[in-house]
Parts: sequence; structure tokens; C-alpha cells
Amino acid sequence: MRVMTQVAMVMNLDKCIGCHTCSVTCKQAWTNRQGTEYVWFNNVETLPGQGYPRRWEDQERWKGGWERTRSGKLRLRSGSRLKRLGNLFANPDLPEISDYYQPWTYEYKNLTEAPAGDDLPTARPVDTITGAPIDKIEWGPNWDDNLGGAVEHGPRDPIVEKIRDEVGEKIRFEFEQSFMFYLPRLCEHCLNPACVSSCPSGAMYKRSEDGIVLVDQDQCRGWRMCVSSCPYKKVYFNHSTGKAEKCTFCFPRIEVGMPTVCSETCVGRMRYLGVMLYDADKVAQAAAVEDEHDLYPSQLECFLDPHDPSVQAAARAAGITEEWLEAARRSPVYDLIATYQVALPLHPEYRTMPMVWYVPPLSPVVEAVAASGHDGEDAGNLFGAIDAMRIPVEYLAEILTAGDTDVVDAVLHRMAAMRAYMRRINLGEDRDET
Ligand code: SF4
Ligand code: SF4
Repeated sequence: MRVMTQVAMVMNLDKCIGCHTCSVTCKQAWTNRQGTEYVWFNNVETLPGQGYPRRWEDQERWKGGWERTRSGKLRLRSGSRLKRLGNLFANPDLPEISDYYQPWTYEYKNLTEAPAGDDLPTARPVDTITGAPIDKIEWGPNWDDNLGGAVEHGPRDPIVEKIRDEVGEKIRFEFEQSFMFYLPRLCEHCLNPACVSSCPSGAMYKRSEDGIVLVDQDQCRGWRMCVSSCPYKKVYFNHSTGKAEKCTFCFPRIEVGMPTVCSETCVGRMRYLGVMLYDADKVAQAAAVEDEHDLYPSQLECFLDPHDPSVQAAARAAGITEEWLEAARRSPVYDLIATYQVALPLHPEYRTMPMVWYVPPLSPVVEAVAASGHDGEDAGNLFGAIDAMRIPVEYLAEILTAGDTDVVDAVLHRMAAMRAYMRRINLGEDRDET
């Protein structure tokens, strides 16, 4: 057993209200600079939707990016590294600015300084960088906000189309049948980070003390292999400095015991931060698992129980401090991921072993039961409604379990049971009846 530590995050999708406060505060803290106008280390996507950058989940689009070696490590596809090293501009797998968006702002001054006239003054859109007026804005993050599954052609086409073929009637592209929810995203600070494996300059690295993945700005040569190799598209190119930049997990705050900016400012209080202990020897094996459906349980097996005395002894022998061990024992992230098993990784099939996990949304089930006039806190009612949930379990499974609906179904049932159980406790009723 080789014990290592990792700061990690779990987000409870039931509690995200899509207010984007996390994105705005993150931007103010980290990317409010020249060269990063289009960059959102944290963004909140509307699902179903194309995401940011547009169609980032369509891995076929970035197929020149990465591949898995026999040992489970990720690397640039054979032959492509040398070829690309010879020509900076030969990296064909980069999102273009139009996939992110051409950042714009508004001519707010016109609202107060326009000369008096018959018409109300307007604040026309202007390019953030050049200040030039923009006639037509064609795309931006959350462009498809609030359209949900009602758009027949557009949002996450490959996934939605695939599910539609498989489950036919379950997804109807009609407004009254539409569904939507929010997916906040940041760098996953993966256990097996493709960005680190693909960096030709050795600039991208994963800190051994807390697992945070960072870019050494002095080492970065701007090859952008990290941008093409990251399957989550969470490394960005600063066009002013010519270097790669990414979410730092707010490491200066983490180092002094403070939460990340996005966690601290989250209006929905949906973000949980914590320390995980994992077995580094198991990580390579887990990434090499053949069956995609086994990737989630394999990653789960890498995590170590911080309450286990033998794990604690191994951690101390590995130099992990008492402070970190205490943080691991008190980690809500460990409880949600490993003890209760209600959190799931985002796209485990990408094999980078992400460390930002998600509790799938149960609230549509609760609302549906309540709307039908029944008790929305009753486990039996909730269990019965999960099959008829407006957000198809198949859709959640495509995002969180490489398509394994049984795992998502089990999580939703577990959450329904916990909800009913907690209600009984709160009402002082007999807990054993649930
Ligand atoms: Fe690297 Fe992308 Fe994983 Fe972040 S999400 S650690 S940028 S591979
Ligand atoms: Fe969701 Fe919290 Fe971000 Fe608001 S601040 S969009 S509730 S994650």
C-alpha cells in the first residue's frame, strides 16, 4: 500500500440553482486578466446542452489527443508527439475561440452619457478585447440555457441521440417533456492526469502533498498539448502570456485551511470539500481496467478508509501529517463517495480518474411525487417514481457511469431511502420502519 493524499470535491446536483456565482467569483479571483477574457476555470453548464467549450464531451472530435498505454498511463497518441514537437501549430485538436466564445461586454457608458432624445439609450455589445462594436453574438457559454432537452438538434447530440435510439419514448423532444439541470465544472485534479502525461516541457505537474494539478509558468512553452489531451477541456491558453493556465483548486487558500472560492461563495451550498487517502499502487491498475463499466468501482477501490488503523499507520510511515489524517477522517467527501456511495465521477470512461464527483439529482423525483398529491418524503413513493423520472436514468448514466444505469439507479434509491429516514428522525418517529 502506497498512501497518498488528494483534496477532492463532491457537488450535490440537487442543490445547484444555476446562479453562476461560483463562476463569477472564480473569475474575479483568477482570470480577471488580459489574455484570459474567455477563460472560466469554473463554469456551470445547462444539461442537456453543448457545454463549454462547445461539444467538449465529443471525444471523437479530439481524437488526436490521448491514448492509454498498456500500463494504464495516458499519453499522446503514438507518433503524434514528435510530429507536433516539430511544429507548434501542428496540434489539430485544439478548441477554437469560437468553441469557447468571443468574449463581449456592453457599452454601459451609453446608458448614462447618451444625448437626450426620443428613444431610450441602449448598451450595445462590444468586443471585450478590442472594444469594437459587435453586430451579432452567435455563441457563448450557456447559450442553450433553459432549452433543456427540448431542442431536437444541438445539445450533446451524440449522447442524446444515442439514448433516444435506445430508450425511444423516454426522451420526448417536446417542451412539456423537457428536462434540465445544472452541471458546475472545474478541473478534476485527476489521479491519472492526461495533461501531465502529455506536457512535453514537464511544466504540468501533480503535487504530491495534496494532488492539486498545476502549471509551472516558467517551464511552460505554450505547446498546448495539455489543452488537447485533457478530456474535460479544462486547460486554457493565455493568448497574452503564451502559457497554459488552469484551475489551481485555490491552492493558496487550501494551504491555510480555507475553502476554494467557488465553494465558499456557492449560493446553493452544494459543494463539499475534503481530503481523500488513496493507494497510489492501485491507481495504475484501476486506469488499465478493460471494461468501462468497471472503472467506477475500480477507482472506488483505490480510496483508503481513513478510520482504519492499518491505513493510518501506513499514512504516517509515508510522512502524512496528523493534521491531514484528521482532515481525511472528517472528510464529507469520503463519506459521500465511499461510505454512503451516493457520489459518482464525471465520465469515468475518460480514464483520468477524476476527483470532482457528483451526487445525481433526486429533486425531480420528489417534485413529481409531491405534484401527484402524494407524500414526497415517503421512501415507497419515491422508489416508485424513480423509474418515471423526467431526467432519464440513462442520461445520468451516460454522464456519470459510462452508461451503467444500475449504479445510478442504486444511488437514487439510496438517496430516497436516506431522505425518508432523515424525515423520520426529524419527526421523532421510529427509524427502523424505513
Ligand atoms: Fe488535467 Fe484535465 Fe484532469 Fe484537470 S481535468 S487534471 S486539466 S486532465
Ligand atoms: Fe450552482 Fe453554487 Fe455555482 Fe450557484 S454558486 S451556480 S448554486 S454551484
